[in-house]
Amino acid sequence: MESKYQVILFYKYVHIDNPKAERDTQFELVKRLDMKGRMIIAHEGINGTFEGTKEACDEYMKIMKSDPRFFDIHWKVSNGTNDGTAFPRLSIKVRKEIVSLHLGDEADIDPNQITGTHLKPEELRKWYEEGKKFHIVDMRNDYELRVGKFEGTVFPDLNNFRDLKQNIKKIEDLKDTTVLTVCTGGVRCEKASGLLVREGFKDVYQLDGGIVSYMEKYPSKDFKGSLYVFDKRIVMNFDDPNVHEIIGHCSKCESPSEHYVNCANLMCHEHFICCIDCLKTNAEEHPPYGEAYCNIWCNLKWKWYRCKKGIKLRLAGR
Ligand SMILES: [Zn+2]
Ligand SMILES: [Zn+2]
Repeated sequence: MESKYQVILFYKYVHIDNPKAERDTQFELVKRLDMKGRMIIAHEGINGTFEGTKEACDEYMKIMKSDPRFFDIHWKVSNGTNDGTAFPRLSIKVRKEIVSLHLGDEADIDPNQITGTHLKPEELRKWYEEGKKFHIVDMRNDYELRVGKFEGTVFPDLNNFRDLKQNIKKIEDLKDTTVLTVCTGGVRCEKASGLLVREGFKDVYQLDGGIVSYMEKYPSKDFKGSLYVFDKRIVMNFDDPNVHEIIGHCSKCESPSEHYVNCANLMCHEHFICCIDCLKTNAEEHPPYGEAYCNIWCNLKWKWYRCKKGIKLRLAGR
């Protein structure tokens, strides 16, 4: 079913002369269209995701296409929430990089100079049909892979995208093979695949438009489960709900689940899957919030911290 609201996801590595001025222009435009979401602007380009009515999204894309810097952006459009609440607010920020890879000025990658060959979803499907030998390297974070991934994915164990540089050694044995990097919408792969090329990987591709574009074209084929997204929807997919396969597991009871929570120990805040039933059970243990802790130590540490703080407050109150 189509929702009234849509979420658009996009990026472009293109030189932005004055990121601050660009931020102001973008803010005014997006605000006028009554959309919410977030965008990062840097000298190296733009990276954004917004939710708005279909009309607002169309209008935004039309205006962007009329700008020579952005005319060839690959737009990823998906169903939003029913009430336009995928994002709590509108945030447009100027940063050094549009995705933090932290290679440093000297070692930074300019995807317009060095990057993996873009492989269209149709071409990847053909690779599968032809039985071509290749390895998919997923550049997303560990918690994103838990609800969905390509079968046989190689994972460089990223807790965070910034780990890539030092974790490249974990996939070194693929240097002489055909490698295809994937991520949500493609933006992380631009630099990640460029880094692989620079590190001496011989045959590097990146999935054009990211996993979201592949799923849209080929729902419930090759990519199993759901796609993790960074908004209120948390997970999304394009397939028929009746045939949808859940590959995520509750970290408490192991039952199939795609329900993410944050560890109730605020100093940990680990993002993990916990099914509704386990959350309910935990609600009795930790009323009234239905909290869940990623492990028993997090629970104990948090209890100890709160207790210590309580004593301090009581002493201060005297
Ligand atoms: Zn459970
Ligand atoms: Zn924890």
